[in-house]
Amino acid sequence: MLASKSKRWLKKALVGSSILRLASRLTPPSAAILAYHSVEETPQLTDPIFGASTSRVQFENHMKTLARKFRPVSLDEVLQFAQAGRQLPPGAVAVTFDDGFADNYELALPILNRYGIPASFYIMVNAVENGTLPWYCRLRFAFHATNKMEWKDPVNGRTFRLDVPEERRVALQLAWDTGAKLTGSVQDRFIGGVEEALGTEPANAPHGFMMTWEQVRGLRKAGHTVGAHTLSHPNVAQVSVSEARSEIVESKRRLEEKLGEAIEHFSYPHPALNPCWSNQTLELTREAGYKSAVLTTSGQVRAGDEPLALKRINTPSDLVQFTLNLQRTFAGR
Ligand SMILES: [Zn+2]
Repeated sequence: MLASKSKRWLKKALVGSSILRLASRLTPPSAAILAYHSVEETPQLTDPIFGASTSRVQFENHMKTLARKFRPVSLDEVLQFAQAGRQLPPGAVAVTFDDGFADNYELALPILNRYGIPASFYIMVNAVENGTLPWYCRLRFAFHATNKMEWKDPVNGRTFRLDVPEERRVALQLAWDTGAKLTGSVQDRFIGGVEEALGTEPANAPHGFMMTWEQVRGLRKAGHTVGAHTLSHPNVAQVSVSEARSEIVESKRRLEEKLGEAIEHFSYPHPALNPCWSNQTLELTREAGYKSAVLTTSGQVRAGDEPLALKRINTPSDLVQFTLNLQRTFAGR
């Protein structure tokens, strides 16, 4: 307890000091891309999207900090910086969201607009089209909510005791690993099979967890960027080339159809397994006509970086840790 208190004090002191600011002046210019998923009023453990959520209050604190201490920029500005060395103000930060949760529109959008922060939203097309949760959330929920004592992994035949927390955790991880290698209807059948075996219904909220197409169009009307996040959220580096191509190309095409404009940005899903991209998938995104692609790999963006493999940084809820992450990124740490 004491150790964690003094650690927090140290972090706070570091955020307030000029050491990291000085270090960032000595390193070459860079930008940061933040990765969010969901913003909920109060994230709950029983919630199917728990684990991907930031609370509304914490998100507002993050945005307030960005507006005051950093320089919010659009993804296009970061792209031009990476590609052509376009000048960016020190502390340039772009905000991104993966998956297409309805709370992005309902809770995050008003905050972004209030602080004048441009953001990019990467849409998992099938989830939005069908109004169903991304499969990785369905699995997490099923393993959390089940009353069954056992689960037999249909892939390796191993039986897990679900009353033993560690076994439950490993069982979920293996189910995630399997889902990450599947796409489309085969993936659907696998996820449905797990839910059936665990005796849980696919989680649903009365208002739906995903944005409607009208809401996606609303993001564009408000001046934000919309990009693609595949059709069925596999790990595209772990599926066949033709499946990866179809996920990368078709999600772009379907979004273009729905929005009536070119979709130029892609975000790599990373539900499980490593790596989540390869030189081959990079070529696929190039062939498809994307101008940028973002990863889950942590790090800053520098002039000259490959625009189809841009690093991002994650967004811890705690404001001190969040600010420290950004300052460290700009200090090249
Ligand atoms: Zn995702």
